Amino acid sequence: MAAPARLALENIARVFDGRRVIDDLSLEIVEGEVLCLLGPSGCGKTTTLRIAAGVERQSAGRVLLDGNVVSDDAVHEPPERRSVGLMFQDFALFPHLDIAANVAFGLKGAKAERLRLSEEYLERVGLSGFGSKFPHMLSGGEQQRVALARALAPKPRVMLMDEPFSGLDNRLRDAVRDQALGLLKAEGAAVLLVTHDPEEAMRMADRIALMRHGRIVQAGAPYNVYNRPVDREAAMFLSDVNVIHGVVANRQTDTPFGLFLTPKLVDGADVEIIIRPEHLKVDLAADGQPAANARTGVPAAGMVERVRFVGSESLIEVRMDHDGARLVATVPGAFLPPAGARVWLSLRRDHCHLFPCLTQSRVSDPYVSEAARTAAE
Ligand code: ATP
Repeated sequence: MAAPARLALENIARVFDGRRVIDDLSLEIVEGEVLCLLGPSGCGKTTTLRIAAGVERQSAGRVLLDGNVVSDDAVHEPPERRSVGLMFQDFALFPHLDIAANVAFGLKGAKAERLRLSEEYLERVGLSGFGSKFPHMLSGGEQQRVALARALAPKPRVMLMDEPFSGLDNRLRDAVRDQALGLLKAEGAAVLLVTHDPEEAMRMADRIALMRHGRIVQAGAPYNVYNRPVDREAAMFLSDVNVIHGVVANRQTDTPFGLFLTPKLVDGADVEIIIRPEHLKVDLAADGQPAANARTGVPAAGMVERVRFVGSESLIEVRMDHDGARLVATVPGAFLPPAGARVWLSLRRDHCHLFPCLTQSRVSDPYVSEAARTAAE
C-alpha cells in the first residue's frame, strides 16, 4: 500500500467575519514533492498555509500529517507539535544571536550536537564559517540562506514557505531559489510553497495549484497548467495572452485565422480564442504569403507597430488589418522588423484555447443543451 501523503488538507473552509475566504479546499503533498499554491492577492494562499502550519484553525475540514489527523473539529495540534518547517518572507533572524545560534535555535539535544548540526546546515547553504557573525553583518541573500538552514536543520517532514524569496533581487533570487530547491529535494520534505509569481511556481513546483476566491480552480504539472488552462483567467494568470474574438455560427467560429469547431456552443455565442505570444508565428509579407495549413490555419495580415529586443527573444506588436486589434508575438532571438513592416501572423492551433465569453455574451447560456446535442448526433 502506498504511504499516506505527508500533508493532506481535506475539504478545508475558513470563514472570517461571515466571509468564506477558503472554500472546500483539498490538497495532498507526498514525500519529496513541491506543490505551489499560486494565485492573485487575497485569494487565500497564506490562510491555507497557516491552517497547514496550525497557527490558524479552519472552520471546517481536517488536516493530516502522514495520515494522522492533526486538526479537525475535535483535535488541534499546535504548530510546535507538528513536524513542519516554516519559512516566510519576513524570515526574521534573532539579531542578538550569532548565526550558529540562530540556526541551532529550534533544535533539541545537547548543545554540542545542536551546534554541530547548525554548522552542517550552514555548510549546505554555502555559509560555512559564518557561524560567529551576527545577522546585521550579512547581506539579504545570506540572511535568507541562514533562514533556510534554520528551517531545514530540524529535518521537518513538511516545509511551508510563504513568498520566501520575494525580498531578493532577481539574480540573487534565482540562485537562492535553485539552491533551496536542491536542498529541499535532497531532504525529501513535502513542500507547500505560496507565491503569486507564476515564473517562480513553474520553476519550483512539481505541481501547481491555481487558487481563486478561496478555491483551487486547477491543479497539475506546470506544463499542463500552462498549456491547458481551464479558463481565460487561468491562462492570463500564467503569462500575457492574446485574445481573438469570434461568434459561433453553425457550431463553428470563423475568424480571419481560419475556422474553429465549436460544437458545444450555441449559435450567436461570443467566443474568445486565447493564445500566448510565443505561439504566434510571424512572417514578413515581403517573403510572400505563407500557405494555409492544418497546423497554423490561415495567416492574417497586419502591420508591425513596435518591436522590442529583450535578450533571449524579440517582442513584436502587430496591428491587425481585419479589426485593428493589437496582437503581441514573441520570437526567439533577434528578429527585428522595422515599425511599419507588413507581416502575416499565424496561430499555432494546437496552442489555441477557446472559451465562451461569459461577461459580454449575446446569449444567456452559451452551451448547447444535452438534448440538442443528442438530437444533432
Ligand atoms: P497575498 O498574496 O496578498 O498575501 P493571499 O492569497 O495570501 O494574499 P490571504 O492572506 O490568505 O490571501 O487572505 C485571504 C482573505 O482573507 C483576504 O481577503 C484577507 O483580507 C482575509 N483575511 C486573512 N486573514 C484574516 C483575518 N485574520 N481576519 C479577517 N480577514 C482575514
